[in-house]
Amino acid sequence: MEPYGDCAYCGGEIVERLQRVDYRVHGQLYILENVLAGVCLQCEEQFFTAEVAHRMESVVAAAAGPIETIPIPVIAVT
Ligand SMILES: [Zn+2]
Repeated sequence: MEPYGDCAYCGGEIVERLQRVDYRVHGQLYILENVLAGVCLQCEEQFFTAEVAHRMESVVAAAAGPIETIPIPVIAVT
């Protein structure tokens, strides 16, 4: 069974792997490690199954504290 299909953006092939994922909720950016994601081989867009998306939600909601905090550069494009 293929849970992701082809990439919705470029039609490329999607492979499943453990990813570091940028995840934003209520304006707070989290970086989640070891997320099972479908990743497009062409454009690197990430896709998640409903189960994994729900898991990310509950993990962030239940998190006692991050394992690491890193500075993130913010750059204006315009
Ligand atoms: Zn793509």
